[in-house]
Amino acid sequence: MNPFDNTEIAFADKTTAQLQKAYWMFKMIENPTLTNLGVSALNFTVKNNFPFVTGIVRKTLFDQFVGGETREESMKVVNTLYKRGVGSIFDYSVEGQQNEKTFDSVCQEILDIVRFSAGNPAIPFVVFKPTAFGRIEIYDEVGKGVELTTSQKEEWQRVINRFDSVCKLCHEKDIRVMVDAEESWMQGAADALVEQMMEKYNRDKAIVWNTIQMYRTHRLEYMEENLGRAKERGYFIGYKIVRGAYMEKERERAAEIGYPDPIQPTKQATDNNYNAAIDFIMQHLDRISAFFGTHNEKSTELVMDKMRSAGLSNDDKHISFGQLYGMSDNITFYLANQKYNVAKYLPYGPVKDVVPYLTRRAQENTSVAGQTGRELGLIKKELERRKNNR
Ligand SMILES: Cc1cc2nc3c(=O)[nH]c(=O)nc-3n(C[C@H](O)[C@H](O)[C@H](O)COP(=O)(O)OP(=O)(O)OC[C@H]3O[C@@H](n4cnc5c(N)ncnc54)[C@H](O)[C@@H]3O)c2cc1C
Repeated sequence: MNPFDNTEIAFADKTTAQLQKAYWMFKMIENPTLTNLGVSALNFTVKNNFPFVTGIVRKTLFDQFVGGETREESMKVVNTLYKRGVGSIFDYSVEGQQNEKTFDSVCQEILDIVRFSAGNPAIPFVVFKPTAFGRIEIYDEVGKGVELTTSQKEEWQRVINRFDSVCKLCHEKDIRVMVDAEESWMQGAADALVEQMMEKYNRDKAIVWNTIQMYRTHRLEYMEENLGRAKERGYFIGYKIVRGAYMEKERERAAEIGYPDPIQPTKQATDNNYNAAIDFIMQHLDRISAFFGTHNEKSTELVMDKMRSAGLSNDDKHISFGQLYGMSDNITFYLANQKYNVAKYLPYGPVKDVVPYLTRRAQENTSVAGQTGRELGLIKKELERRKNNR
């Protein structure tokens, strides 16, 4: 039997009215034409402050995928999730302009999240994106290893300082911080910087975590090399393991510029690579901790099986799982019910500022084969179960 089929556990916190609303919303998202039309309309109307549209978004997509407009408001969701054994990871999803003022203010916001979250077991991690602290172009330049101009050197130093201020505070406050992974052409510089932070702050345990995208080629080799350096220099590693979110963009750029596609050739190849990462981590738990960020049931089951055969308890401190808020509750709540460490990425921010995040969720749900169908199937099953039990 599929352990993730229990919709009663998955939706225990949702009223029937909430489920009906979610069903209607995923049904809309399922239609690519409607979603594409909706995305353009949304971006325009919300940006231009049409209060009526903002109100609709607030009651639909926002309610489904976002914790609240502020951290304080989102605490209601954090507490509800925690009562059921699920942690929350605040994801500051406001996508601002790429300039120094914005980078500084996002950095301040992340530092505030650290202070707000530290010591609260309901919030087990802090997270940030490298491009929230610096322009993608500067990562690209640094990654190429070319000589930087004086002003580029100063710019990169400011990125390092932002990383360092967050990682240092996380170390002081004893809270783990995950750095998201983004486009391959900026990732080399980000990897090197995260490793630097690991070396500095992970002397006793994994405080600073990197993200590894298994849809990319050569990532297992990278993990092996990183492990070699960690052993040699005496620090611990934390990894969030994901498949990767920028496939179309990566393939297009590689074709356009004419370099080898950095993405696995097929979905199956990505899945195999993800499984190989699970194996690799299970063999090195003395040095590596992992957070499996996935909505894939098979990957989740594989980790659970490997933990069982290794004789680990479900809540082993080296292993956690995570899904996005509003998606795959059947996986999250099953794991929590079985006492695994599991958390949701919980975005927050003013409605108009999280619209890009919301439209990406809507588009991803249209394009990721099966995800919306899966959500719809589960909601339908639960609605029917409730009807028959009345
Ligand atoms: C908690 C959490 C944190 C995340 N953090 C990040 C992050 O920091 N950086 C990031 O990039 N993503 C991140 N993601 C998104 C993640 O990378 C995936 O895009 C998303 O979770 C879908 O993959 P899946 O494992 O859930 O499941 P699935 O639905 O089984 O896999 C879909 C994924 O498979 C891959 N894929 C699909 N078709 C092909 C193909 N033809 N060839 C090769 N590969 C293919 C793609 O990566 C696609 O997203 C995160 C996801 C979660 C849940």
